[in-house]
Amino acid sequence: MTHKSSDTADGMPAHDLQTRVVHPRNDIPDGFASFSTPIARASTVVFPNLAALRNYDPHSDTQWRYGLHHTPTSMTLAQQIAALEGGTHTLLQPSGLAAISNVYFGIVKQGDDVLIPDNVYDPNRSHGEWLARNFGISVRYYDPMIGAGIAELIQPSTRLLWLEAPGSVTMEVPDVPAMTQAARARGVVSAIDNTWSAGLAFDAFGHGCDISVQALTKYQSGGSDVLMGSVTTRDDELHYRLKQARMHLGLGVAADECALVLRSLASLKLRFEAHDRSAMAVATWLKARPEVAAVLHPAFADCPGHDVWRRDFTGAGGLFSVVFHERYTPAQIDAFVEGLKLYAIGFSWGGAHSLAVPYRVSTMRTATHWPHRGTLVRLYIGLEESGDLIADLAQSIEAHLAG
Ligand SMILES: *Cc1c(COP(=O)(O)O)cnc(C)c1O
Repeated sequence: MTHKSSDTADGMPAHDLQTRVVHPRNDIPDGFASFSTPIARASTVVFPNLAALRNYDPHSDTQWRYGLHHTPTSMTLAQQIAALEGGTHTLLQPSGLAAISNVYFGIVKQGDDVLIPDNVYDPNRSHGEWLARNFGISVRYYDPMIGAGIAELIQPSTRLLWLEAPGSVTMEVPDVPAMTQAARARGVVSAIDNTWSAGLAFDAFGHGCDISVQALTKYQSGGSDVLMGSVTTRDDELHYRLKQARMHLGLGVAADECALVLRSLASLKLRFEAHDRSAMAVATWLKARPEVAAVLHPAFADCPGHDVWRRDFTGAGGLFSVVFHERYTPAQIDAFVEGLKLYAIGFSWGGAHSLAVPYRVSTMRTATHWPHRGTLVRLYIGLEESGDLIADLAQSIEAHLAG
């Protein structure tokens, strides 16, 4: 039923109250300003007319189309992340792992080959194996310290080179520029998981990467309560391929969660530097302990790739690992971790709370031999006072490892 009669002051027909609740008149005065990004929630995006609805250019990033693609809130965050990483386009994703998945589906197809560092974030490895099993791609693992030698592993079918700097858990720092140069010379797309550095301490594009992936879940959120990821590029064509894959996969983010991350971004650099300082204090203390066989922190001379870290990075943040002496059984190390009072047991670092997780590294690799025999514990240093974090390590070492 249509209403044609104009019987109100603004020319609108006098609708039933229920209709007026669905179509409210906005009487909000102009002139409001605040520092927060307005939360623009949308599934439906409303077009001014049918021509606008039909006139869709899939290459355009500035046409509003559908809430899944973007809203003003997600676009604001995407632009901020692109700026932080020195890229030109950012695609927001529902998690860091979804960002990794978007890269796979945007770049590789059946018959293609992918190179993955042997110390990669474990769900990336599982994703590659799933694609190899069910989707006809080949995945091969390489020694993260291979450097320019990666050129010898590149085959005509190789399409994607994954990098992670440093590697999850074991912290080897790869020579990214040497590897991205070799990839580029052979037309292979290089994608780095740049989560450890938050995009602050390592310039992915300046070191030759084509794609930078972040788990925004970590430092950018900073609250341990949001899941989000990003895929950033500098190349229009690459961005378009990734954007198409993201659309086919139905990946998107909620405006409310974008607003939470935007709220934290202003303090990102200060938090990262605070984590970095505390982690250095804790790592330095651990390094001097007789129970510790190695501290795997890129700022320490004996961490594999330390020289590359000094050349290419400007900081380290809060995540590093420690290897205990092999005389301790895995059960003793478990007791030590459970004996910590300030370090929670859990994944997904980047928030205010310190974390500790033991890993059985030898079962995580297929292409390289890990040289250590003791048990590794990955530590994330939160925003507690570092002296308290050191005292907590000391009490649990005393209780479970001394003697
Ligand atoms: C946490 C993490 C991810 C995945 O992020 P989620 O948002 O938890 O899916 C990817 N890469 C690295 C290195 C990470 O630490």
